[in-house]
Amino acid sequence: MLPTCPLCDKLNRLHELPADELVWQFPHSVAFLGPWQFYTGYCVLVARQHYPELHVMPSSQRAVFLDEMVVLTQAIDFAFQPRKMNLESLGNQVAHLHWHLFPRRADDPETRKAVWIALDRAERDEAEKQRLQAASLARTEIASRIRAALNQMAAPTP
Ligand SMILES: [Zn+2]
Repeated sequence: MLPTCPLCDKLNRLHELPADELVWQFPHSVAFLGPWQFYTGYCVLVARQHYPELHVMPSSQRAVFLDEMVVLTQAIDFAFQPRKMNLESLGNQVAHLHWHLFPRRADDPETRKAVWIALDRAERDEAEKQRLQAASLARTEIASRIRAALNQMAAPTP
């Protein structure tokens, strides 16, 4: 744990998070409902241990962490049937391994572009920010549908 890392800090405060944000606790990672719910079901999957890169995570742990990412992807896909799942691990802002799981809607006007183009616009444009944060369902309902899919799949827990 690094005291200055916002994701380590978040993992230390799971009990303080609202019920709609903490989606699932896997053995090696924790799934959070992300803010950009225009992409219905968007989750961020954070590794429980602080590693800056996938290639420095011990291989046995990495295999499980990647499996957990795939299980969460399947659950989101099952819950919302997006046109496509976009999986990204960047870490340019917070170098603590995490995956962005973006379900891409069929009616997304920018369906062929990376979501970051829209999210970059949202940094400068409040109306765009609100559009991309708006959810078609209540956040608690989105989190609950993903959890139901994970339960049905008997997804692992710690
Ligand atoms: Zn960290």
